[in-house]
Amino acid sequence: MSLLEPSPFASWADLEREALACTKCPLAETRTQVVFGVGDPHADLLFVGEGPGEQEDLTGEPFVGRAGRLLTSLIEDIGLTRAQVYIANVVKCRPPGNRDPLPLEIESCRPYLEAQIGFIEPKVVVTLGNLATKLLSGKPTGITQVHGREQRVTLGGNEVTLYPIFHPAAALYTPRMLEVLEADFKRLPELIGLAVSPPPPVVLAPTPAPAPETAAVQLGLF
Ligand code: URA
Repeated sequence: MSLLEPSPFASWADLEREALACTKCPLAETRTQVVFGVGDPHADLLFVGEGPGEQEDLTGEPFVGRAGRLLTSLIEDIGLTRAQVYIANVVKCRPPGNRDPLPLEIESCRPYLEAQIGFIEPKVVVTLGNLATKLLSGKPTGITQVHGREQRVTLGGNEVTLYPIFHPAAALYTPRMLEVLEADFKRLPELIGLAVSPPPPVVLAPTPAPAPETAAVQLGLF
């Protein structure tokens, strides 16, 4: 399916039902369950990771392990909850041993992700790490060059803002990367058009009135 073709799924429920029963690639044989996605299917903000890990495969929910807890706290730091955004992955089934998904697995799963984007119609698609960024930008440029820089792309039939950031798993062990991830995250409210609260006003201490004798001196009375 190309990025411009209409969705082959009649509804969100239809899409979810098909994805949950998918056997299009060999990951169907090793997964515990399909990890379709979680959150608000009308969200302004869609996060796209790489693929489920062990915890996600066991629970059926994306980003619930260590990287997931970091993602959740970053979302909460900008005043949102997991229930107010949508979180999905490029591949919906866990690659054994958490290896990178193979091209065949990515291509088999791609119609599900594109249809999710088409139904959700997010204002901003946040790609987490290299794999999701390269796939959805359609460009080979790596995350180190493009993180924190929004670009306009057509996905799932809609023009959206694509905003690549580092994968939270990469930031778990590298403090410098965590700082960059936090800084990139801070731009999200502005990108989805949420009012960003202005910094608190600077309160100037009142200038004390001059002592009477000083005032008198200034007036030349002494
Ligand atoms: N890493 C991902 O890319 N996705 C998950 O769901 C969990 C970890």
